[in-house]
Amino acid sequence: MTKRAMSFLRLAAAAVPLALLSLPAHAALRIFACEPEWGALAQALGGNLVDVSVATNALQDPHQIQARPSLIAHVRNADLVACTGAELEIGWLPVLLQQSGNAKVQPGQPGNFAAADYVRKLEVPTLLDRSQGDVHAAGNPHIQTDPRNIALVATALAARLAQVDPSHAASYAQQQADFAQRWHQAIDRWTAEASVLKGVPVVSQHKAFVYLYDWLGMKEVAVLEPKPGVEPTASHLEEVLTALKATPAKMVLYSAYQDPRPSEWLSRNAGIPAVKVPFTVGGTDAAKDLFGLFDDTVSRLLAAGAKP
Ligand SMILES: [Zn+2]
Repeated sequence: MTKRAMSFLRLAAAAVPLALLSLPAHAALRIFACEPEWGALAQALGGNLVDVSVATNALQDPHQIQARPSLIAHVRNADLVACTGAELEIGWLPVLLQQSGNAKVQPGQPGNFAAADYVRKLEVPTLLDRSQGDVHAAGNPHIQTDPRNIALVATALAARLAQVDPSHAASYAQQQADFAQRWHQAIDRWTAEASVLKGVPVVSQHKAFVYLYDWLGMKEVAVLEPKPGVEPTASHLEEVLTALKATPAKMVLYSAYQDPRPSEWLSRNAGIPAVKVPFTVGGTDAAKDLFGLFDDTVSRLLAAGAKP
């Protein structure tokens, strides 16, 4: 070993205890988020007080995720699990929670947060009939497509962070107030920009945008999936195309995680634009955070709606 290497090693050895001393007095709150939007929100509200891991990315179908050992390990170590709820993750989250053996994140515990509990849910079925496809019994779970829902969830999530990590309650309240102020300004801007979309008839590939339409006043006239969660068939696509002759639509929307081909088929045959909606943070290059998610959603809808 050279003299220089040895003196480097001595320096490195001396630096280790210093690095340990500079660690915060107690470790960050570990948050496991099921979807990118709740991971982004937890990060925005928690800042450097939280360590966020996200189970899915924007190009994965959140209804259908494998309960992999790596996800179970994250849940095992989590202080708080933040998911959509409303049965969106019914096929995989219960398995993760059960396999984790982590008592503090089980349903009903403060460490288990379901965003959908804090918003008014749409499409709650009056009669539950599973033959009607993968029906969401608790109502439509895709609440993150309306920024007003994000605001409601932010308030509830900040309160929950304070509950599970009371020594930092003041910080969470402060970060929530800062987020809420910027978010409400942004909602006003998006709502004004998108006002021309009011009443615009649209087709959805999956019933993923009811909250978006409720916010902007857009009208869903057809859905490409014959039943929720069932891939579009050629015969159903033909039926939609025929129905659009009587009830025309201005565009067809699909989520970034979905196969675009059914929407592209309708686009070609009905002569309307197919619009890829980021759906969550990371769904498109511009949807880098929650603000970018709605900036990009609104700008894509406006670009399509502006076409004759
Ligand atoms: Zn769905």
